[in-house]
Amino acid sequence: MLYCEKCRSAFEDGNQKCPTCGKIKTVRPITDDDMAYLNSADEYTANLAAEEFDKANIAYSLEKFGSERVSYIYDSEIMPTDKSIYVKASELPRAMGIISDIRMRVDKERESEEQFEDMPQKKRMWIQIISLILFLAVVAAVVLGADWIANSLKALFYGTAA
Ligand SMILES: [Zn+2]
Repeated sequence: MLYCEKCRSAFEDGNQKCPTCGKIKTVRPITDDDMAYLNSADEYTANLAAEEFDKANIAYSLEKFGSERVSYIYDSEIMPTDKSIYVKASELPRAMGIISDIRMRVDKERESEEQFEDMPQKKRMWIQIISLILFLAVVAAVVLGADWIANSLKALFYGTAA
């Protein structure tokens, strides 16, 4: 693995320049004690990750989402409170497992929150469906009722049921 001293990215051997910031001079082989960029996350996710890293005894640091990553300018989903997470290079694989678990957990939490917010909309949809059914029932009743009245009149005039 290689390491970029400028942006603290860890990446595969074979890259001449840092795939994140494009620098060449700052790239060197990684050492276990380097703090390597893991992930960026919103504050909530980052704090959960910090708790898990504490439990797992993984050295980490949370920093304000850095300007060294230009891509954030184009990404409207990134909040100014977002954090960049760095972990000890030797712990990168474990840390990656932990952060992806946490992301799944947070995604699930947020999904169920969204479903809760969707409730009024679903209710409205049901009300619309039920009113449509009632409307069709009324139309059917009118049509069938008209038929029944017509048949009754025929029977009255001609003396035979249709
Ligand atoms: Zn770099």
